[in-house]
Amino acid sequence: MIHGKTIEAWKQSHPIIGDLVALNETSWFNPDIAKTSEAITDVGLTAEDVKAASARLQRFAPYLKTVFPETAIANGIIESHITPLVQLRELLVGEGALQNAGEMWLKADCDLPISGSIKARGGIHEVLKHAEDLALKAGLVARGDDYSKLASDEARAFFSQYKIAVGSTGNLGLSIGIMSAKLGFQVSVHMSSDARQWKKDKLRANGVVVVEHESDYSVAVEQGRHQAAADPSCYFVDDENSPDLFLGYAVAAERLERQFDRAGIKVDAEHPLFVYLPCGVGGGPGGVAFGLKLIFGDFVHCIFAEPTHSPCMLLGVYTGLHDKTSVQDFGIDNVTAADGLAVGRPSGFVGKAMQRLIDGYYTVTDEELYRLMVVAYDRDKVKLEPSALAGVPGMARVLQSPDYLTRIGLTPTNLQNATHLVWGTGGSMVPEDEFNAYLAKGRSL
Ligand SMILES: *Cc1c(COP(=O)(O)O)cnc(C)c1O
Repeated sequence: MIHGKTIEAWKQSHPIIGDLVALNETSWFNPDIAKTSEAITDVGLTAEDVKAASARLQRFAPYLKTVFPETAIANGIIESHITPLVQLRELLVGEGALQNAGEMWLKADCDLPISGSIKARGGIHEVLKHAEDLALKAGLVARGDDYSKLASDEARAFFSQYKIAVGSTGNLGLSIGIMSAKLGFQVSVHMSSDARQWKKDKLRANGVVVVEHESDYSVAVEQGRHQAAADPSCYFVDDENSPDLFLGYAVAAERLERQFDRAGIKVDAEHPLFVYLPCGVGGGPGGVAFGLKLIFGDFVHCIFAEPTHSPCMLLGVYTGLHDKTSVQDFGIDNVTAADGLAVGRPSGFVGKAMQRLIDGYYTVTDEELYRLMVVAYDRDKVKLEPSALAGVPGMARVLQSPDYLTRIGLTPTNLQNATHLVWGTGGSMVPEDEFNAYLAKGRSL
């Protein structure tokens, strides 16, 4: 029995469960999405909260510019560019015989400075928030100060009295670990068994304590939480439930709006925006989607992408069980090559807060991620790690779902004017030999 029902009964009541447990690629467009103005209050956070996070990142920009010279070119603001995906679009249109395909763009979070993934948004914001809270309280800085003084030996000595812990499949650990160690914190990263060796090595080289666990992401998080609970000087970054992570991700939207303006990309009733977000526990895609909904309202359609072996958010929202269930409960193994997406149990906070704001969810096989990775690299010249390709098939899934398109009321002309934005969540820091191994694997399929 699974949550009181046999698997057969589940398949009867929720037909997509059949595809999920068979590890078939599948899509689900949520019939219960609501008007943004109505559903945005479900979240319990506001536009003011996102503005506060944005202002905080601005206050820290002089500090980041000092300690991470690679951010100097953007004046200490951690941001990625957008670029068209002309060849991948051609491939999808050809293979799917797609009608009314608009343009396809990449949001290149793979190139974010400091940690090379979307985690440089939420993870770094949360560490900075904690550091700022401590520093303000101790009188080390005042609000109007130039925060570059936090790069001093005195400030580092102050932060070294405090600890930070986090559980991660890898990329969040990189962000939290590198940022915390730079400030001077004692930081421990609890890594799940699927975390890559190079990430552990890189963290240790930065002075981070890496604790390895023979288990998956949820257990690594549990261990981090446990360590922090026993020690009042230890702050736990809670990937499953943290508003400060979520808000750090949400700041992406106001920056994207400015990039769209500069690129002449319109988002309005005649020019819908579809955004495809690879989803692990849900905080990254959830936070970005929240920011996008605040800015673009009903004109933006956010869709989450997960590996066929780890469809935790789809399962949680579709069954309504949220974090009460895991993919393992349904016999799905949570084993995938998609780093950052190997998560068996979704964030209950994100699943519930965002369920009326996310248009849909779909799954992708690892083989497809590898195949698309090769195309992206060879033809569109972008270096993405396998998980970051999960957003690519989204355009085809949308255009091949006539019921969904009718429900959201888009005409063929609207669709031709649409922008499909693939959130490229990671890749630039994958070492050369690892990346070549990914490519070789992709080419052999
Ligand atoms: C973490 C991560 C995601 C998803 O973020 P969640 O907050 O776990 O949902 C997507 N892609 C990559 C590369 C990641 O590291």
